[in-house]
Amino acid sequence: MIDAKKVLKEHALLPNKALGQNFLISEAAINTILNAAQLKGKNVLEIGPGLGTLTEYLCREAGSVLAVEIDKNMIEVLKSTLHSYSNINVLHRDFLDMSFKELSDLMPCPIVIAANLPYYVTTPICLRLVKWDADILNMVLMVQKEAAERFFARPGDRVYGRLSVLMQVRFEISSLLSLPPCCYYPQPTVDSEVVHMKRRTDTEFLPGFFEFVTAAFSSRRKRLTNNLASYGKENILNALEFCKISLFARAEELSPDQFYKFFKYASGIENKY
Ligand code: SAM
Repeated sequence: MIDAKKVLKEHALLPNKALGQNFLISEAAINTILNAAQLKGKNVLEIGPGLGTLTEYLCREAGSVLAVEIDKNMIEVLKSTLHSYSNINVLHRDFLDMSFKELSDLMPCPIVIAANLPYYVTTPICLRLVKWDADILNMVLMVQKEAAERFFARPGDRVYGRLSVLMQVRFEISSLLSLPPCCYYPQPTVDSEVVHMKRRTDTEFLPGFFEFVTAAFSSRRKRLTNNLASYGKENILNALEFCKISLFARAEELSPDQFYKFFKYASGIENKY
């Protein structure tokens, strides 16, 4: 396993806090990720490979790996730490700036996603991943405990919101391992979690669902009928009635599966009559 402190020293680098660089130094975490991700022969996307600690293991097991890293210094390091692997494509890019077309051209489906996500952009990256219509088999993500809580949240929970709905409609989510700060160098101030997301087979990617859920949560205190007025008031009232949801409901009161069904009727994918 790559010795993060040693590699940084050899390259005369310091971890860049602004880019969320807390490097993994826990072999247990890596083993948990590898067991869950089932990478044999798969195409894997890693966001933020850093020094290449996890990437090296991904390269050993996967068919191919696309690693997207924002930091030029890390790109230099990766040239040396991953030099013996031929199934890796390292891209010097901000993941958030990449279009879905670009990603899909580089990643033949189906794909698996593995990442120790930079904390400062966990939510935007996750929102991007659920908006992407790629055939994502599963994702194994290391995130701050607070972010994991939002993935799992249910109606009534303080942190329940659009990310909870979008994630849970697309994936079956389970927590695999808690990671205390000592699993990283440098140590973060908070605990982290390894979370597994397996594609659900009873739901499908529905174009427009992301925008619908986003609009529904746009003003948390307002009713769905107000937040979704642009979908046609009558139409929304009919869909709510058909789905046996209160006409006065707010977004935070609907479970992810209720949202999925409600969207299908409101958008005409399922016929109300
Ligand atoms: N995967 C490595 C590990 O586990 O040791 C590094 C993880 S570190 C938490 C996050 C990595 O994501 C850093 O290398 C950082 O430079 C990179 N990063 C931060 N923002 C990014 C972005 N928008 N796009 C791509 N990479 C990013």
